Amino acid sequence: MQRTVRFTVTCLLLVAAFQTHAAQRCGSDGVWMQVLGSGGPEMTDQRASSGYLVWQDGHARILVDMGPGSMLRYEQSGARIEDLDVVLLTHLHVDHSADLPTLIKAAFFTERTRSLPIFGPTGNEVMPDTIAFVEALFASPSGAYRYRSGYLAGDEAFSLLPHNVPAVGMDVKQVMEGKGYKITAVPVNHGPIPALAWRIDIAGRSLVFSGDMNGDNHTLPKLAKGADLLVAHHAIPQNATGVARNLHMPPSVIGEIAGESNVKQLVLSHRMNRTFGVESESEVEIRKNYTGPLTFAEDRQCFKVSIQY
Ligand SMILES: [Zn+2]
Repeated sequence: MQRTVRFTVTCLLLVAAFQTHAAQRCGSDGVWMQVLGSGGPEMTDQRASSGYLVWQDGHARILVDMGPGSMLRYEQSGARIEDLDVVLLTHLHVDHSADLPTLIKAAFFTERTRSLPIFGPTGNEVMPDTIAFVEALFASPSGAYRYRSGYLAGDEAFSLLPHNVPAVGMDVKQVMEGKGYKITAVPVNHGPIPALAWRIDIAGRSLVFSGDMNGDNHTLPKLAKGADLLVAHHAIPQNATGVARNLHMPPSVIGEIAGESNVKQLVLSHRMNRTFGVESESEVEIRKNYTGPLTFAEDRQCFKVSIQY
């Protein structure tokens, strides 16, 4: 009897483990946003750091941020590296950018031949610009991974094309127009770190990614106006102060932006230990200005981006 119970428990644990690691694919039609990493930089939350995929008709076309662990989630999502049109980086903190070499090395083993553009912020005295960041990784003779310098020199199967997008000022700028989509960005205030928020208009849908930001400068509402989906980084609780508050927006500011922009769906990501367990308090603050659908993100979660809610 005891053995049967033990066997059953073992089977249930195996099933749970399989479900945890099984691929989670978004739908094969329409526009979907998949959360690759819903955590921050901590290694105690069982989450990957920031990363998001925009899917269209079963193809992963646009990657926003690539923090540690997000490339494992990319693999689990079933996305093909060959399908990726462009990478957008909100900023160059480790928890948003460290998996870039992981993707490039993995791409070596695929059939990819198309160039891969990477757009990210300009630099300042504490951060390199995006071109310098990619060169610090891959350029010869000084890059850390110069054994793969061919991705910048043009003698690999495909080329990396890094671009700097101005992270100063208040204006929304169009950055790229692709097959059936348009990408725009606006500088946001992330304390001393150059940072951008991104908007993707694709197949009549619109998705906005705040990245890390503290809400000062008030630039995100312009970018997010009327968006179908806003991914906002919920890295601090309402009562945060000091450095954390200088870098991040509290839930009340997320609510104000979502309400003012009239976004149709809100996803809260970049969750951290200091925000776990106070979700209901965070929601109360957000609800003062925003009444639409609201979800606290999990890794690999898929959101259908619809224009009707
Ligand atoms: Zn950051």
